[in-house]
Amino acid sequence: MIKIKMKTPLVEMDGDEMTRILWKIIKDELILPFVDLKSEYYDLGLENRNKTDDKVTYDSAYATQKYGVAVKCATITPNAARVEEYDLKEMWKSPNGTIRAILDGTVFRAPIIVKGIEPCVKNWKSPITIARHAYGDVYKASEMKIPGPGKVELVYTAEDGSTESVLVHKFDSAGIVQGMHNVKSSIESFARSCFNYALDTRQTLWFATKDTISKKYDHTFKDIFNDIYEAEYKDRFTKAGIEYFYTLIDDAVARVMKSEGGFIWACKNYDGDVMSDMLSSAFGSLAMMTSVLVSPSGVYEYEAAHGTVQRHYYKHLNGEETSTNSVATIFAWSGALRKRGELDNIPELIEFADNLEKATIGTIESGKMTKDLALITTLEDVAVLNSEDFIKEIRNTLEERLG
Ligand code: NAP
Ligand code: MG
Repeated sequence: MIKIKMKTPLVEMDGDEMTRILWKIIKDELILPFVDLKSEYYDLGLENRNKTDDKVTYDSAYATQKYGVAVKCATITPNAARVEEYDLKEMWKSPNGTIRAILDGTVFRAPIIVKGIEPCVKNWKSPITIARHAYGDVYKASEMKIPGPGKVELVYTAEDGSTESVLVHKFDSAGIVQGMHNVKSSIESFARSCFNYALDTRQTLWFATKDTISKKYDHTFKDIFNDIYEAEYKDRFTKAGIEYFYTLIDDAVARVMKSEGGFIWACKNYDGDVMSDMLSSAFGSLAMMTSVLVSPSGVYEYEAAHGTVQRHYYKHLNGEETSTNSVATIFAWSGALRKRGELDNIPELIEFADNLEKATIGTIESGKMTKDLALITTLEDVAVLNSEDFIKEIRNTLEERLG
């Protein structure tokens, strides 16, 4: 069999624990036999991040800016327990946070729909993609406990020393206060990433905030989206046959529940955090979600939405059998290969990515799946496979498809 040739390297970011084990099996069984893989490999496993003082994470993000497409394995974000476990020099920052800050991107997450894994909301027929703004608001807020009577003000001091202030509240008794912010450039990047992704995937874009109550803060989000849309995207949306519309967050939630799916829902940071967990559990599981970071300049990083599945890894180290779902990691690979194919004009690579996804879905729909899916499927008499056998079964289906 002739392997598919690539033109530009894919940035490959390896990771940790159980997903690192799956990464190698996926490459050996599902990628390398079919694609003459051109990749620039970065080992983001915690040991190597520690060895390189986390330089490898930065280098991998710069390489992504250079080449345009990356595929990333799940990685450990160290906490105190991990510092001890891996004897770390420092509590290194979240690689996803570092990469997101360098690429200035927005994360888009969508469920992978399979017959037999039915959404709880019965009218959802197509995926609903959540785009979450990844900067500011309550995640970068300053807070204070107010011990007793007194007043709280917001004060802005300009560089020339002039000030402007507004009363938050005159307290008669104890209370609490919070000050949060966002920056115009970040909201603009968020908007452009959303408009580009909508065009890319030919889906209508929804955006919702609480601008009727928050007349300066949320209203600014609404205005920035609207101005950029009118100035830069309206014509392209019309040509592509898609729409952008803004509505109030309460109205959006009500409409989402009654919709058939098949659109992108852009959310402010907090709304995106909460709503993406609601959508992923209503659609099935985190192991059946795709996740891609898109920068406003059109750089893409594909990954799984779940973590490194630590509990399964320790079973694996103990020599016990695991049944870890590799679907999200396989879709990270297919997404990245398809994008590489689109950017470099390699139709065979795009077709291969489609076939890999269809083979994965087909394997599950034929009743062969990992334990997490077997627990929630409506299919009967399913075969529960271990981590490796599930991937090998996908390979069989893929080879049949490819003839
Ligand atoms: P997790 O790895 O997502 O796993 C939590 C639980 O969800 C697992 O124990 C398992 O449940 C289930 N699960 C998740 N993915 C699964 C899969 N592919 N197949 C089957 N079951 C799956 O979250 P965590 O255990 O909280 O985090 C582990 C490490 O991942 C942490 O060090 C964290 O920093 C890191 N993390 C990385 C990323 C990323 O790189 N994008 C994201 C989140 C977390 P059962 O045990 O019940 O089977
Ligand atoms: Mg959350």
